[in-house]
Amino acid sequence: WGEYFFLSGASINNSEDDEEEDIVDLAANSLLNKLIRQSLVESTHRVEVLQKDPSSPLYSVKTFEELRLKEELLKGIYAMGFNRPSKIQEMALPMMLAHPPQNLIAQSQSGTGKTAAFILAMLSRVNASELFPQCLCLAPTYELALQTGRVVEQMGRFCIDVEVMYAVRGNQAPRGTDITKQIVIGTPGTVLDWCFKRKVIDLNKIRVFVLDEADVMIDTQGFSDQSIRIQRALQPECQMLLFSATFEDSVWQFAERIIPDPNVIKLRKEELTLNNIRQYYVLCDSRKDKYQALCNIYGGITIGQAIIFCQTRQNAKWLTVEMMQDGHQVSLLSGELTVDQRASIIQRFRDGKEKVLITTNVCARGIDVKQVTVVVNFDLPLNQTGEPDYETYLHRIGRTGRFGKKGIAFNMIEVNKLPFLFKIQDHFNSKIKQLDPDDMDEIE
Ligand code: ADP
Repeated sequence: WGEYFFLSGASINNSEDDEEEDIVDLAANSLLNKLIRQSLVESTHRVEVLQKDPSSPLYSVKTFEELRLKEELLKGIYAMGFNRPSKIQEMALPMMLAHPPQNLIAQSQSGTGKTAAFILAMLSRVNASELFPQCLCLAPTYELALQTGRVVEQMGRFCIDVEVMYAVRGNQAPRGTDITKQIVIGTPGTVLDWCFKRKVIDLNKIRVFVLDEADVMIDTQGFSDQSIRIQRALQPECQMLLFSATFEDSVWQFAERIIPDPNVIKLRKEELTLNNIRQYYVLCDSRKDKYQALCNIYGGITIGQAIIFCQTRQNAKWLTVEMMQDGHQVSLLSGELTVDQRASIIQRFRDGKEKVLITTNVCARGIDVKQVTVVVNFDLPLNQTGEPDYETYLHRIGRTGRFGKKGIAFNMIEVNKLPFLFKIQDHFNSKIKQLDPDDMDEIE
């Protein structure tokens, strides 16, 4: 039996809220990805660079040695198991470590090595013998700040006497004395408070200012303005760095307001495709019928691991209970769990402890469970206007061309939803074949 986190009291009833699809929480998803990620995300694209001064030579490095880092820092990097700079780090690190310091805006999907890069920059610029904040990093949430701090501590484990302080809600600013730690990581509101009201951080002395997860940051009320107020009080020679996983216009506008004279580095995201995916649909009369079809498929083909997507929490719960009662090893990942609980469920699934993961949309984006070759849409993804949600469909079952394995996708369709399925088929111009669940031979 899979580990099944029963849901907290409020959500067991079938209130209207419960019917709602889980809302994708950017900060929570970002943290989740960090907690479960074990290695770099690969990319086939080339890094695009826009230099502030196009006439200055463009350096890239293939090794960490070329960066002439402090020995204890190099040791920390190797102890983390990093052998060579990631694609984005090859270009970003020489700029970030240059003399005089250069400002940088960098965008690449999560998992490509941005955090490691700016932590390296901060650690290489701190002076351990000076007991005041020298590097300031803004993060969108308490948990993300702590996560970044953990990496600072890992990478900096041989940098004796370098310490991290967290300026986050609930953490008291020291009274009457200044902060003596060199690196401060915090959320904008608390940092602002510590700088201007409590005056325990002197922004004049900050050498490196990092704004991490800019896309999540601008999504949070007030954070852009607070960040800009902090940035305005820095010295012009302070190095300013901004990172984002996505780059819509709004992020770009914010980045340009907050980072003066930047170099810009971008690494395009790997595109998802349906090319390597065999897609099927099974026509069903009811939810029970869908479940029966699912069982037939399950009995009919050898399935390693599968992810099953439902549109509502209620459906996901129902299906979980049904499958468990039939003796399947399943776990349920849904939006009402804490991020830590979700991370642990995904980790268990990745370790193969459960064969089936049932989820709503929380899991559809960004979280990659590479070994999964079977995806089931127990419900088709529909958007709020009741139209097919093409993007979500692609995220659920698509794979990146070069790194993705072949896959197979099943859509359980009630007759009245059939037009939506055809729309999806037309939209992607890719065939979704009808499957008779009593005759699995068709699949092979
Ligand atoms: P991002 O900030 O873009 O999401 P991270 O810096 O968190 O990316 O890196 C993603 C994962 O890859 C982390 O587990 C990190 O430890 C690892 N990583 C980062 N840089 C390297 C590298 N040069 N070599 C190997 N692993 C790396």
